[in-house]
Amino acid sequence: MNTSLSCPRCNSTRITTRDYGRKAGGAVGAAAGAAGSAAAALGGAEAGAALGLIAGPVGSIFGGLAGGLLGALFGGAAGCAAGSAVGEQIDTHVLDNYACSACGHVFGKQHSS
Ligand SMILES: [Zn+2]
Repeated sequence: MNTSLSCPRCNSTRITTRDYGRKAGGAVGAAAGAAGSAAAALGGAEAGAALGLIAGPVGSIFGGLAGGLLGALFGGAAGCAAGSAVGEQIDTHVLDNYACSACGHVFGKQHSS
């Protein structure tokens, strides 16, 4: 419940979040997902081509394309989502994710234990 978050130094409530981890995580995740999706695309293309072979050479081409596209799409999206989620956890628990726009003080979530 951080609805009334305020700066521990000057008590200003003009607090911004930096979200470095989330942004970096999303970028890294998307890159990892794209790399993974390249492998998935190959697998998908192979599976699609194998299935398409039953319907003949034209079916093989379309099957390969569909399989590759699906693999790339799912890999990139899943990687970005996973990376963002991990980065958000890092932001919240590891990094000082809050910055006061009044005095510039940077601070993390208060440990209320
Ligand atoms: Zn402040």
